[in-house]
Amino acid sequence: LPAEFQAAKPIIETIEAAGYEAYFVGGCVRDTILGKPLHDVDIATSAFPAEVKQLFKRTVDTGIEHGTVMILDHGNGYETTTFRTESGYQDFRRPDQVTFVRSLKEDLKRRDFTINALAMTANGEVIDLFDGLADMQRGVLRAVGVAEERFHEDALRMMRAVRFASQLGFTIESQTEQAIADNAALLTKIAVERTRVEWEKLLMGQHPVAGLTGLLTTGLYRYMPAMADQEAMLQQLMALPAWHLPSIESTWTLLSWAMHRTDEAAIRQLLKTWKTSNELISHVTAAVKALTALKHNGQLTAQENFYTGLDALRTANQVATILGFGQDQAQLAQAYASLPIHDKHELAINGGDLLKAKLVTPGPMMGQILAACLQAVVMKQVPNQQDALLDFARMVADSKNR
Ligand code: ATP
Ligand code: MG
Repeated sequence: LPAEFQAAKPIIETIEAAGYEAYFVGGCVRDTILGKPLHDVDIATSAFPAEVKQLFKRTVDTGIEHGTVMILDHGNGYETTTFRTESGYQDFRRPDQVTFVRSLKEDLKRRDFTINALAMTANGEVIDLFDGLADMQRGVLRAVGVAEERFHEDALRMMRAVRFASQLGFTIESQTEQAIADNAALLTKIAVERTRVEWEKLLMGQHPVAGLTGLLTTGLYRYMPAMADQEAMLQQLMALPAWHLPSIESTWTLLSWAMHRTDEAAIRQLLKTWKTSNELISHVTAAVKALTALKHNGQLTAQENFYTGLDALRTANQVATILGFGQDQAQLAQAYASLPIHDKHELAINGGDLLKAKLVTPGPMMGQILAACLQAVVMKQVPNQQDALLDFARMVADSKNR
């Protein structure tokens, strides 16, 4: 058992001692068997939420209406969810009703894929009611039960299928794949934010080509935001030599680039369609700008380094490396570190100083002179010292007044 399960074992034992069943379930069991690192430990139990809360001193109602209580223990939180069935799904995305049940089997039945429908006892014994272990061994993603129905219940599962294909390098079983092809249009019922999370996970997976293959063969990509006409772009991504995207920022930078969205307005439009944060839009805009310069000039100027900033520079270079024109990352970091200043607020002169020295009156000229000072300092033409900058500013002001 992994350390995370060992640590959680007393939780399960406490629930069992009170006469209920409790198991590790879902992604954490799958990842344990695959020998992958765990990010969260989920527990399923026959105890109802109120019963769980009675057994533990510290709990948080993280999703009590659908049966989830977080148990706090030694600085860890364990999401513990009562066995439940779901019904309704009139909107193709969420059940109208969840019903708590006492049977593990009923709970596992509602899960999306056989490899996600495994449970494990506190002793490490696997409970495999849907042949998830065999599918795992074969590297297959198969819907639990009738695939068609499962995607009707929740269309996000189609995105999850291609996402897991990318993360695990699995193939999608043929009936499951056919059901995605037949129901792909239902994806438009899903909130963009939820589709985006799966799309990002797909692109950041260890086997992105497997995920992209799933998107293309099922046609699911046609129903993703801004993707309907992007078949050729997806094929180009697949043709790149083995690549791995390390972050959400690099993911959207590569996508913007591949979709020829290289100016700020086009990037903003694309990312707004996908409902990303403004922070991400700024980062990607800076990174794509740097990527463009890197592509055309093979390197970046001090000014480009300065305006891009270290984080977006790193992103740009990660993507440039995937595209075949990356630079040595350490050298790039070194070039950035050697900039005389890293923020415009570090400039040793400001508007007030210019006014005091009677070099300008308030107005647009002041901004222009400060910009010239900033550029001169970044390019190491003038040291970042007030006296030197005042001399330089005087020269600029004179030339502008002539
Ligand atoms: P991740 O590695 O992203 O956490 P995961 O499989 O653990 O992958 P979660 O969203 O954490 O995904 O969900 C935990 C479990 O809940 C899944 O393994 C699966 O059994 C079930 N599950 C999650 N989302 C769905 C869904 N849309 N439909 C059916 N079952 C789901
Ligand atoms: Mg999970």
